[in-house]
Amino acid sequence: MPVIAVESFLKGAWVTPAATAVHIRSAINGRVIARSGHAGFDAQAVIDYARLIGGPALREMTFHDRARKLKELALYIRERREVLYELSFDTGGTLSDHKIDVDGGIGTMLVISSKGRRDLPDANICLDGEVEALSRQGSFVGQHIMTPLQGVGVHINAFNFPVWGLMEKLAPCLLAGVPAIVKPATATVQVAEAAFRMMVESGIFPDGAIQFVAGSVGDLLDRLGPQDVVGFTGSAETALKLRSNPSIMRSATRFMSEQDSLNASVLGPDAGPGTVEFDLFSKEVSQEMTARAGQKCTAIRRIMVPEIFAGDVAEAIEARLANVQVGDPHDPATGMGALVNNGQKADVLEKAGLIGSEARLVFGEMNRFAPAGSGMENGAFMPPMLFQCADPDVADHVHRTEAFGPVSTLMGYRDASHAAELVNRGGGSLVSSVITADPDFAAQIARRSAAFNGRLYFNNADSMAESTGHGSPVPHMVHGGPGRAGGGEELGGVRGAFHYMQRTAIQGAPGIIAAVGQTWVPGADRSEPPRHPFRLRMSGLSPGQSITTDAREVTEEDIEHFARFTGDTFYAHMDEDAARANPFFPGRVAHGYLLLSFAAGLFVDPDPGPVLANTGLNNLRFQKPVSPGDSIRATLTVRRMTRRNHDYGEVRWHVCLTNQDDDQVAEYELLTMNAL
Ligand code: NAP
Repeated sequence: MPVIAVESFLKGAWVTPAATAVHIRSAINGRVIARSGHAGFDAQAVIDYARLIGGPALREMTFHDRARKLKELALYIRERREVLYELSFDTGGTLSDHKIDVDGGIGTMLVISSKGRRDLPDANICLDGEVEALSRQGSFVGQHIMTPLQGVGVHINAFNFPVWGLMEKLAPCLLAGVPAIVKPATATVQVAEAAFRMMVESGIFPDGAIQFVAGSVGDLLDRLGPQDVVGFTGSAETALKLRSNPSIMRSATRFMSEQDSLNASVLGPDAGPGTVEFDLFSKEVSQEMTARAGQKCTAIRRIMVPEIFAGDVAEAIEARLANVQVGDPHDPATGMGALVNNGQKADVLEKAGLIGSEARLVFGEMNRFAPAGSGMENGAFMPPMLFQCADPDVADHVHRTEAFGPVSTLMGYRDASHAAELVNRGGGSLVSSVITADPDFAAQIARRSAAFNGRLYFNNADSMAESTGHGSPVPHMVHGGPGRAGGGEELGGVRGAFHYMQRTAIQGAPGIIAAVGQTWVPGADRSEPPRHPFRLRMSGLSPGQSITTDAREVTEEDIEHFARFTGDTFYAHMDEDAARANPFFPGRVAHGYLLLSFAAGLFVDPDPGPVLANTGLNNLRFQKPVSPGDSIRATLTVRRMTRRNHDYGEVRWHVCLTNQDDDQVAEYELLTMNAL
């Protein structure tokens, strides 16, 4: 097999490795498989290329344009993923580990793309929250907006998931409209480079949107400024070094850090031997210890169980670990492959030694997993190691030493408060799981430990069939944790893109706010459409187009009829005395839903046309009661339009109902799907 020459991709061109490039060895047999490292590069020119070429091209597009490109890119890589699986075996992982990495990365990019199209507008500016009333008469209002930063995202990734790490950071960055420079970890750079090469070859994103540094970043971090973002994943030690960079501190460059974490898993007191939850617990723990040979930032490092179950739990986990075949990751029967290299193995064994000074090794003898003659004698294999700690209150390493491999420590707790205290001794974790069917125990742990965790994962018999697993960050939910875990936050749907955007408070007259946000707001000018807006395709609509209907009287017969027809005979609509005794009503009043129905009857144009469906309404408020004899009219105003596909899009309408005195009685946002 030829040695792979891992290249960088800088300023639109591939750069071959220098003579001084480092050798990357196979985790399975120690053979040199790749060379990586450049001869130095002009970091300022690379940053400028991103800022001046990539950034403007990305910002020309809308959020939806970029989201569609992300989907295209993810599908492009999916078509070619077998190549990535094949290349990944030399990093020590099994096929199922590669799937977590490769398919996980593709899935994450697809979800971020879909969230981007659903939760962000087809525009360049995104509104954050509703209009804030800042004045009595409504002539001065406020609105938060989000716009893309005009710098570059520098992504420094860890070795353990070279494809997932690449894609999970690129997706929100590109969705936001910010170009990226990616620096993968050297230990698995050949896999990251192969995935990145596919991205470049696809030609989906414009020139300058993505660059790749295989090797040292040189003085790149010294050149970052206030519009740039660093997304780091790796050890706490490296994070501290990088975040202390004087340029980063001076410019207040955003620094998101995902670092190591002493994650916990807690067995509820209800989940003793013989319960479904007990088996689920031992299964999740052993899976988390052995998946990717424990080289997962979210792996379970500390196992907490009621003291009386400690012996049973140890036995159950040991039995599962004994069934995990360690060895050649190509073999489908292998449950756990090798660590990424022998340097990593030495580091894990050293850390395991520290843990072993406070806890007893109950499983994990150093067997030979690659017998002489197998060709794997130089592979980075080691057994899963389970420790048991008799006094977790006194122990220290157990709670703060991360052995980034298949190593975990079991300990007993006395009650919920003690369990939470032990969880929190991790000093801030990415995730802790609680396996329990007891809602009260779950609530107690959440109250005491949520502040120490980026994610709390509860599982039991009700959720186990569909649960996603302790160790899987899902793109819909945030990933990151406080304190020791880095204090960063990634993913979480479009929240991930917001890290690459600036939130700005806009204040001014409603007309100005409407123009800036490309969304009509109450108080801004209205215009008359050329015909009824239900007769206009979405392309013919614009924010502020508005009609006001004729008035309709609401009679007592209407109320009676509606009550009988729907079965809603609530006393406020039917009984004059009871209604009058209520502090909110002057006497019998019309049903709110009757008013909504009348409003629709007033403003719809009934014939088939470009309005395809009513898909819902938001922020409904009934502001003033309507009594028999009152009359109402509706004002329908286009707020904003969002294209959904080639055929149709969503229109948001502001609807306001007023009575005969021009008092507002109800207000809401109506959603329709309209032909383009
Ligand atoms: P690492 O040694 O800290 O390296 C992380 C990244 O930083 C690598 O790309 C590394 O590049 C780079 N780096 C190191 N020194 C640098 C410098 N002076 N300037 C610029 N970049 C520098 O961590 P690792 O061994 O790859 O990963 C294992 C650790 O990552 C574990 O502690 C694990 O808990 C943590 N992790 C956390 C998460 C999370 O989401 N929170 C996910 C995965 C892993 P080189 O490889 O070229 O040195």
